[in-house]
Amino acid sequence: MDASHVVKAWGKILKGHAPSLSIEITKECPLRCPGCYAYDDAHLGTGETLRSLSDFKGQELIDGVLEIVDRYQPLHLSIVGGDPLVRYREVEAMIPLILERGTHVQLVTSAFRVVPAEWGTMKNLNVVVSIDGLQPEHDVRRTPATYERILKNTADTQITVHCTITGQMMKRPGYLAEFVEFWSARPQIRKIWFSMFTPQMGDKMPEILTAAERRQAVSDIDLLRKRFPKLEMPEALLREFLNPPHNPQECVFAQTTQTFSADLRSEITPCQFGGNPDCQQCGCIASMVLAAVAHHKLGGIIPVGAIFKASVKFGKTFGSPVTPLPTKPRLVEISKAAGSTGD
Ligand code: SF4
Ligand code: SF4
Repeated sequence: MDASHVVKAWGKILKGHAPSLSIEITKECPLRCPGCYAYDDAHLGTGETLRSLSDFKGQELIDGVLEIVDRYQPLHLSIVGGDPLVRYREVEAMIPLILERGTHVQLVTSAFRVVPAEWGTMKNLNVVVSIDGLQPEHDVRRTPATYERILKNTADTQITVHCTITGQMMKRPGYLAEFVEFWSARPQIRKIWFSMFTPQMGDKMPEILTAAERRQAVSDIDLLRKRFPKLEMPEALLREFLNPPHNPQECVFAQTTQTFSADLRSEITPCQFGGNPDCQQCGCIASMVLAAVAHHKLGGIIPVGAIFKASVKFGKTFGSPVTPLPTKPRLVEISKAAGSTGD
C-alpha cells in the first residue's frame, strides 16, 4: 500500500464509504475443506446458507460485479467464493475491466484449475492460492486441489501462497519451516503469507490454536522471515497476532471492507467470516495488516488508529453513504425477461 493509496482510502472513509470490497462471486466450490467459514451455517447470519443463495454466471455475473464496482468504486476488490475459478471465463473477462477502473484486484482460489499465465504479469492483480499445510495434510483437506494439481496449474504464472495455520500444524515442531522451505523454492511463488485459524464464538475445534501455539507460530515466522525473503510477514504485522482486535468495532479491516455474497446483494457482516467471529482469537492476515497500520504513530506521537476512528465517525455523521443497489438485482429481472433459468 503506497502513500497515495492511503490518502485515497482516507478520502473515502471521510465520505462514509468503504475503501475495500470483497465479493463472493459464486456459491460453488468443488472442495469441501473442513472448517471453511464460507459454508458455515452462520456465515450469512440470516438462516440462509451460501449454497442456498441464487448466484449468477455468464454476462449476468460480469455485469453484476461491475455494477457493484461502479456503484462503490472501491480501491481494492477481493474476488472470493466458493471458488472464483468455478466461473473462470467470467473472471477472465471481468478482471481487465475492473483493473481499468483503477481498482486493485485480489483473487483467492484453491487453484483447482489452471491459473492463466497472463494473470501473473497484470499490474495491480494478485492471485492468492490457499494451501492448507504440507502435502499429506493438504491433500486430505483439499482434494481435488492437491499439491500436484496446484504445482501444475500455477506453473506458468506468479502467485501468492496463503496458508492458514491450524492447531494441528503447531503440534508438530518445524512444520511452518518445512512449509516455507517447500514453497519458497518454487519459481512461480511471488510471496508467502500466513493467517491463523479464526473460530466463531464458542467453537471447539482442533483447528483452533492455543495461546501457546499462537505465540510459537509468531516466533517461528519471525525467524523464518529472516531466512526466506518471499515470506512477507513484517515484524509489526506479527505483533498484531498476539493482540487481535477485541471486537469488530475495533477492527480496521471490518470497518473498511464491505462484503457481498453470491446473490450480489446479501452483505456479510461483521467481516468476511460472517456469523459471530471470535475476534480475540482472530488470525486473519488482512485484519492484522490494518491493525499494524493503525498502531503506527505518525511523527512518533499520534497513532494512525486515532485519526482513523475520528475519520470513520466523521464519515458516518457528515459523509454521503453510497446508495445501496436495489434489493432485487436488476440482472435477475433481465434474466427472467430473457427466459434464462440461471444456475
Ligand atoms: S476452497 Fe475455499 S471456499 Fe472452497 S471449501 Fe475450501 S475453504 Fe471453502
Ligand atoms: S477480521 Fe477478525 S478481528 Fe476483524 S471483525 Fe473479523 S474476526 Fe473480528
